[in-house]
Amino acid sequence: MPIEPQKIKKVRRNLELTLWEKLYIFEVIRGLFITTRHLVVNLIGFVVPPAGKKRSIPTIYYPEEKRVMFDAYRGRPVLVAQENGSEKCVACGLCEKICPGRAITIVAREKENGDRFPLQFTLDMTRCVYCGYCEEVCPKEAIVMSREYENLAAYNRAEMIFSKESLLRPEKDLRERLEYVRRIYSKCNY
Ligand code: SF4
Ligand code: SF4
Repeated sequence: MPIEPQKIKKVRRNLELTLWEKLYIFEVIRGLFITTRHLVVNLIGFVVPPAGKKRSIPTIYYPEEKRVMFDAYRGRPVLVAQENGSEKCVACGLCEKICPGRAITIVAREKENGDRFPLQFTLDMTRCVYCGYCEEVCPKEAIVMSREYENLAAYNRAEMIFSKESLLRPEKDLRERLEYVRRIYSKCNY
């Protein structure tokens, strides 16, 4: 489709800046004005908070205050524990297989009744890329991406390797994420 001539804008290449533009004084002053305005507004909001509010500035006083992460947030993968404290995982190995970082290692065993369970479930957080594939593939809702964003760094690699016991979280604490997972993956037509 031809373009109407009045809609064509010519680009002025090799444009020479004026002396005023070369000095950047106006832009520097404008930047300082914006920064100062934010500083003053935040200070006023801090000293004189609006009625009914603690303070009006959005900054969170971490670590005293913790941010509540949104449902879609993908933090550390954790294992879902049943009411009796045992894992929901049946050691099917799907998460171990799909994990692109090869962060998961499972040693499976069978109970006397034939049910499988992970004798060991190891998560190497130096390899995890927080993709959420383990959560998506799990047929038992036994592993989910939690809202945990702390202690994701350590001074040595050994501290970044998590055992089954350290990954287990009560199901009630993961309810919101589990509901989100059901909502989001039920939209996928595999
Ligand atoms: S989030 Fe991705 S990289 Fe991390 S353990 Fe799960 S599948 Fe592996
Ligand atoms: S996919 Fe789920 S049930 Fe299977 S081994 Fe992983 S956590 Fe366990």
